[in-house]
Amino acid sequence: MGGEWSSRPSFCCLGVPWALCLELDAWTSRMPSPDMVPEVSSLWLLRLLRDIQLAQFYRPILEELNVTRPEHFDFVRPEDLDGIGMGRPAQRRLAEALKKHRSGLKSKNWVYKILGGLAPEQKEITSAPDSPLSLPEPEGGLKCLIPDGAVCRGELLGSGCFGVVHRGLWTLPSGQNVPVAVKSLRVGPEGPVGTELGDFLREVSVMMNLEHPHVLRLHGLVLGQPLQMVMELAPLGSLHARLTAPAPTPPLPVALLCLFLRQLAGAMAYLGARGLVHRDLATRNLLLASPRTVKVADFGLVRPLRGARGRYVMGGPRPIPYAWCAPESLRQGAFSSASDVWMFGVTLWEMFSGGKEPWAGVPPYLILQRLEQDRARLPRPPLCSRALYALALRCWAPHPADRPSFSYLEGLLQEAWPPEGRCVQDVMEPGALRMQTGDPITIIDGSPDSTTWKGQNGRTLKVGSFPASAVTLADGGGPPATHPVQRVSPTQGERQQESGDGDRGKAKLRDLPPARAQRRNRNVPLQRMKVISKSLESVLSLGPRPTGGGSSPPELRHARAVPQGPPGLPSRTSFASSPSQPSQPARERPPWPKRELPHSQPSGAPATGKATIPSGGLLPDSELQRRVTEVGLSVHGVTHQECQAALRATGGDVVSAIRNLKVDQLYHLSSRSRADCRRILEHYQWDLSAASRYVLARP
Ligand code: AMP
Repeated sequence: MGGEWSSRPSFCCLGVPWALCLELDAWTSRMPSPDMVPEVSSLWLLRLLRDIQLAQFYRPILEELNVTRPEHFDFVRPEDLDGIGMGRPAQRRLAEALKKHRSGLKSKNWVYKILGGLAPEQKEITSAPDSPLSLPEPEGGLKCLIPDGAVCRGELLGSGCFGVVHRGLWTLPSGQNVPVAVKSLRVGPEGPVGTELGDFLREVSVMMNLEHPHVLRLHGLVLGQPLQMVMELAPLGSLHARLTAPAPTPPLPVALLCLFLRQLAGAMAYLGARGLVHRDLATRNLLLASPRTVKVADFGLVRPLRGARGRYVMGGPRPIPYAWCAPESLRQGAFSSASDVWMFGVTLWEMFSGGKEPWAGVPPYLILQRLEQDRARLPRPPLCSRALYALALRCWAPHPADRPSFSYLEGLLQEAWPPEGRCVQDVMEPGALRMQTGDPITIIDGSPDSTTWKGQNGRTLKVGSFPASAVTLADGGGPPATHPVQRVSPTQGERQQESGDGDRGKAKLRDLPPARAQRRNRNVPLQRMKVISKSLESVLSLGPRPTGGGSSPPELRHARAVPQGPPGLPSRTSFASSPSQPSQPARERPPWPKRELPHSQPSGAPATGKATIPSGGLLPDSELQRRVTEVGLSVHGVTHQECQAALRATGGDVVSAIRNLKVDQLYHLSSRSRADCRRILEHYQWDLSAASRYVLARP
């Protein structure tokens, strides 16, 4: 063996701060001279090299590069290996073997890894392909290293894939005691190994850098045996346990579930913005920090998103929560923020199903088939409003790009928020939801044309139908505004109302979704809420369904049976219900689904009603408004702008514009081509409802 530890030109602190280099030099200068190092200490190297048929490099690595311990490789550059004649493919093999070797090492090395602030898999991903042995910059540091004696563990709270969780008490240096949860890594007779250790370390390194009101906080780490994570305590346990708690525990109010959903969407938007994908979103991983606060927990499966497509593709078979997974995750192991959004939809479903297991009874290998070939979707739970179910369906769009983002979902949730009402006359009829005057009622479903509504009595938490006339909307009933939702801006009409209403009114309006803001007057009978859109509701409840489409309802079978825009909104009907204000701008249409520009004039379209737009492309204002209104009244669910665009594309021909928009609507509702949609509409004499029923029943 040659060379001196203290003068090792071939060692380089690649990617390591200079301070650490100096420390390392000091450390290495204290090392025994190579002659004194017993050969046995480098036997691991010989074995490792033999395993990958690189034994010929044993001496050069030992003698020229002075590597005697696995962590020394962190400071070896590819050029150093080039220098001893090792080719790049061999270097990659070596890197792989080293990774495996080091993940199997015991305490000293995994503690070392944690202190480096990186988990093994992150190292692997961030390494450039041609520099297999480089160590990336450490990301941040530990929040806090907690001495073993400062934490005492109490009762067992639960157990997860790689550890057990105990309630604990952490004594701060000031003497203050903080209630905490302590997750200990499960240790086998051989010490922690393989994926359990990797996941545990990954969870630590991810949580270390997170700070959000709805993300569980990591206080620090106990570097003892076993390794322990000290976390914020969620005293009320998991949301799943709460949802499935047997009587006499009352069910959770629908409005509270909506609040949890909004908190979850906020936390997930935060994770997504930090380039992380959770991969295990489910009610079991939502913890109740207080009766009205959920926090996202369990970051063991979190991965950083890489590449322009923002995806993480699994490297090999690992357990994943099948029933919660998006089709692309089941098919290709591909995860992204969009697959987290899918899981959000499943979590929503769990919440409104009382914690039921999704796809219970369906074998895991059949779930993908059900989703893709049968286009099946989880059914609407009884507690879930049509508007919220429509939102879930959007999360379950087959193509990841068609799913809303989490920040967009925050706005959609606000819009789908169930209205709050108050009982104005006792309801005692058998079969109806019982209520007494003054009871708070959350409206789950109702349509302006219906005399019967469905809701939850906030006093009894019972759910059922009741006469719409028995309830009036509560003043200012709406989502509690914990933070402003940027996406939803008030319409012009709302702004006008605002200005005459004083500051308190303004503040309230800003916090309410537009639909609610329009219904804010005291004692407006629910039945007069004409502004409620019929978007999904009317499409999915268009009378008897055609037979022969299978036994499950269309919303179960059709991935594309998704509303065009947020349900429960005035936007699509606003100009229809307020013809006196035709110039009021329609609310911004969400960017999903992407609607193509209106077509050119279809062949064979009748010429009736045609009015040529003057060469400047503009009709007189009043005439344009009249036509826009006519088109809007004739096509379900279109916006003012869409009517204008359709008229522009058809040279002002109202009939053609109406037909084109109907084709568009049907196209977005089904998986059929536009030509097919046109044929179906022709068959049904341009009756969009009948055509919709037809396509919904036949995927
Ligand atoms: P996990 O290993 O993260 O899946 O946790 C297993 C179980 O321990 C969870 O389902 C919870 O019931 C419980 N648990 C985990 N973390 C906490 C915490 N911070 N506070 C309270 N209970 C927890």
